[in-house]
Amino acid sequence: MFRKWKADKSKRDTAPPPSENDSDSLKADYTHVESAPAPEDPLDPALEYAVVDPAQPNMPYGDGSDKVFGMENFGYTCYIASILQTLYYTTSFRHQILAFPERDAAHPRKRKLRVHGHKPHAFLSSLAPTPSTNGSAAASTPGSSGSTTPQNSKVRSLFKPGPPQSAPSTAGNTDRDSKTDLNNPELQNLLVAKYPEYANLDIHYSLNQQRNITLVGVTDNQAATSEQRKRQALVRGPIINLDHSYADQYGMSETIFTALKDVFECVTENVSKVGIVSAQQLVEVVKKENEMFRSSMHQDAHEFLNFLVNNVIEALDNYCNATGAETDIHRLFEGLLTSETKCLSCETVSTRDELFLDLSIDLQPNTSITHCLKMFSQSEMLTESNKFYCESCHSLQEAAKTIKLKKLPKILALHLKRFKYAEELGRNVKLFYRVEYTKTLRIFNTTEGSEYADKMYELYAVVVHIGGGPSHGHYVAIVKTDRFGWLLFDDETVECVDENFVYRFFGDGPGLATAYLLFYREVENEDEFIDRLLYNGLATSENEELDTSAYHRVSVPDVAAESETNGDVAAEKEKPDKQERKKRVFGFKLGKG
Ligand SMILES: [Zn+2]
Repeated sequence: MFRKWKADKSKRDTAPPPSENDSDSLKADYTHVESAPAPEDPLDPALEYAVVDPAQPNMPYGDGSDKVFGMENFGYTCYIASILQTLYYTTSFRHQILAFPERDAAHPRKRKLRVHGHKPHAFLSSLAPTPSTNGSAAASTPGSSGSTTPQNSKVRSLFKPGPPQSAPSTAGNTDRDSKTDLNNPELQNLLVAKYPEYANLDIHYSLNQQRNITLVGVTDNQAATSEQRKRQALVRGPIINLDHSYADQYGMSETIFTALKDVFECVTENVSKVGIVSAQQLVEVVKKENEMFRSSMHQDAHEFLNFLVNNVIEALDNYCNATGAETDIHRLFEGLLTSETKCLSCETVSTRDELFLDLSIDLQPNTSITHCLKMFSQSEMLTESNKFYCESCHSLQEAAKTIKLKKLPKILALHLKRFKYAEELGRNVKLFYRVEYTKTLRIFNTTEGSEYADKMYELYAVVVHIGGGPSHGHYVAIVKTDRFGWLLFDDETVECVDENFVYRFFGDGPGLATAYLLFYREVENEDEFIDRLLYNGLATSENEELDTSAYHRVSVPDVAAESETNGDVAAEKEKPDKQERKKRVFGFKLGKG
């Protein structure tokens, strides 16, 4: 029933071989770029120890909320980028990563203003000699569209479904209509009106083919393809060339935690507010720790989330056990559920508590996340080969099993099980069921005693899988940021998107893009939250007016409670303790297998 994550080889049996060498294709296309990287201004040495917020001695150089960085793709690493971006903008998580372990006030660490890497960055090296910048900005080499990978064309078919798009601009195309004035203040004003923080983002803004405003990957050519904008993002930089570890600065040995902290800290402390992070060292550590991620094939973003969070918690547990330090990081994602199994022969009820870090939800066609969560808690019969060993009967018996959510986490991560084994095909397939998700979610705690309260949640991130099957495709993340609203992170590029965009990935098209992971965060002050929702709705547009249908209520049924009140209970309750955390499962599945 509950399982620790393990590699599912069958999922990757049909994976296509890596089609081409990524850095070669980047090299071949470098003429797309508008300009060479700008020479760096010298830095004021006073910045090196300039404390941003004295009230936060463990985050002296800021909390990172004012940064917008894309992530370099090293070939099929979009599953890493989409999860890292989501976790970075999970504010409480980022704060905990940045602020731990405590800094030594007597020996402040220099701010990581620029990170050039121990070796020259591969892409920038490939640009030499510097391409011409004399106004042939939008020009591309003839035939370059042929180098587009199937993966890339899928991205475009998602974001602009319908009739096929016109070919990318060809050499010599100077069509004024396709040009964007990078200094046009209107785009910025539009954003600043909604989010004042955009005024502090000293960058150009450009509108792309999808009518989204590009923040990272800005080009002078509105018709630029997604790939061209990604390359442009690398050229503009600055690139955080993270090909090394800072673990010794933290007084730790290198782990997934230190590699993740390196990424968060280098972004937070960078002299620029926008740019690209090249997280090479983190990818190396991930591959070293887990052979499954060593192949250059498409990987599962949920498995990576599982792996990452479990390993971060484990690394911190080890560190805390050795040093006596304390962290609450595991509490963010950690919830408690209880499974009750009632033997149909003797009616004894066994109860078992399990910690979870996310919930894996079975899907049904034409339904909603609310409905799927209800089904999740519905009673299930254990019969035939799936019988339950009853401690009272001392034998295998038919039983009824119910799962209840007992303690709800601050961050509720939901994994939509879109990849399912199809017996008739002998492999995993992707389910394109329509599963609606909503802005808010209320989950009731109906376990007896009600030790823990109900919670209202707000959607803040969606990881979208784009593709026809489990063994190939592409991931992007759409994340609500504190300062800049909803942002779409697609590897190197970052775009500002309308809130309506977030609710386009229910699963039944158009296109192959479907929500795969949903991240909800606890609403701590419900009255204030609802006021804000109302106010924003009235202040902006009719489209965003408060829709009361957005409030869905999930009640976890309590069917086994009756037998318990009869005093017929043989409880096997286990209190989770520090050791128990080791057994924590990240997601679990219902039913057979
Ligand atoms: Zn029994």
